[in-house]
Amino acid sequence: MTIKGFTNKAAVYTEPGTLGIGIQDLEKPSPGVGQVLVKLTHSGVCHSDLAICKQSWPILPFPTPKDQVGGHEGVGEVVELGVGVTEPKIGARVGIKWLSDVCGSCSACLEGDDNTCSEQKISGYYTPGTFQQYAVSSAKYCTPIPDGVDSAEAAPILCAGLTVYSGLRKTNTIPGDWIVISGAGGGLGHLAVQYANRVFGLRVIAIDHGSKSDLIKTCGAEAFLDFTKYNDEQLEETIKKDITGGRGAHAVMVVTAANKSYELALRFLKPLGTLVCIGMPEGAAVPIQSAHPARITNQQYRIVGSAIGNRKEAVEALGFVARGLVKCHYRLEKLENLSKIFEDMEAGKIQARVVVSLN
Ligand SMILES: [Zn+2]
Ligand SMILES: [Zn+2]
Repeated sequence: MTIKGFTNKAAVYTEPGTLGIGIQDLEKPSPGVGQVLVKLTHSGVCHSDLAICKQSWPILPFPTPKDQVGGHEGVGEVVELGVGVTEPKIGARVGIKWLSDVCGSCSACLEGDDNTCSEQKISGYYTPGTFQQYAVSSAKYCTPIPDGVDSAEAAPILCAGLTVYSGLRKTNTIPGDWIVISGAGGGLGHLAVQYANRVFGLRVIAIDHGSKSDLIKTCGAEAFLDFTKYNDEQLEETIKKDITGGRGAHAVMVVTAANKSYELALRFLKPLGTLVCIGMPEGAAVPIQSAHPARITNQQYRIVGSAIGNRKEAVEALGFVARGLVKCHYRLEKLENLSKIFEDMEAGKIQARVVVSLN
């Protein structure tokens, strides 16, 4: 329905599989039963958005619908309630995440594993996302934004922050343990360094390009390794001998999309250590030599995957931001620049996060 004087500016994927993006004025979405309409002010831009736009992840079923609205780190204000909704109230600030809704009653949901809900809906993929001024959301699944947390800063916590926080909970570590974070200067990485150090009490060894060292050190990394300055053997030796004193790190978390990071990850681990896989490699699968079953058995490694997190973890992840322990670094951009932002992301030029303004 087109309403006079009403605009809903949106960035849509006009040619999925390419970086073709159009800025369009869409109709006002209407909240259905159990849904709310959110007037969004900000959305973070995640690597997953790029993957959906370019159809570059082998794990997702494609094609992405033509003219879909991307985005899954949206923050705004509830402006309309669907039938049956009493919470959140009109005017409440809420966030829309990668999962825009889950059923709440399947076996995955009952275990708190929202990510494998059989009825899940993904924002910005087969459900219109947050690169628009107005989006509908499930009332029960949107995340309350704590008072005192800026909307632009809250946006990236809804995916990047939640994902690394949930991943860190799976590292099987205790305060004082060493963790290697591979890809530490990106949207996920710079938050992972902070949560690891300031929330979980871990000692962080950060790996990334040298251009990101200042940001990473600000986030609390104890050691920074510029991967362009070392060959593989030097990196392994520096972590095992020079930094951790001989055995390696208790945990490694890979938050990049680079297959190379996975190849090296197990080489940094101490026996009985845990590798948490978060970054989604793109393109064809590449065999990882270091992950030979005999080595995993002999060294008694734990290898766990982690994807986003559940509703409770989203609230917890934002709570640490509200308390000032974690701070998201971001660059504010216009929605119209989304195509260029994706180009920069592909080229690895983005430090921390980009957030688009939707006002
Ligand atoms: Zn994301
Ligand atoms: Zn479910």
